Amino acid sequence: MAKYSSKINKIRTFALSLIFVGFIIMYFGIFFRTHFLVMSIFMLLGLLSIIASTVVYFWIGMLSTKAVQVVCPNCNKPTKILGRVDMCMHCREPLTLDPNLEGKEFDENYNRKSQTTKM
Ligand SMILES: [Zn+2]
Repeated sequence: MAKYSSKINKIRTFALSLIFVGFIIMYFGIFFRTHFLVMSIFMLLGLLSIIASTVVYFWIGMLSTKAVQVVCPNCNKPTKILGRVDMCMHCREPLTLDPNLEGKEFDENYNRKSQTTKM
């Protein structure tokens, strides 16, 4: 089974790794301080990577405002859905906004609810 995580979390991890990559590139640049041109290229690449990550972070902010906030039926915590199908941030329960798929999810919930009320 593949490791699943919600889309926003995935992008956030990507942005964080970009910052680390940027710092690593800049760190390597220090080794070439005798060659000014090589060092400048490393520093520039590192800086670009860090700028890219801030752009990605800004993009997450934009996406978060577009994402639909719902209460997860599985763990009852508020989470955000991005696109038609996404995972719960807390318990990785698959969530959907698609009406065709929603029917199936709702059936499962009603089954669970009826089971708990019977008990
Ligand atoms: Zn959940």
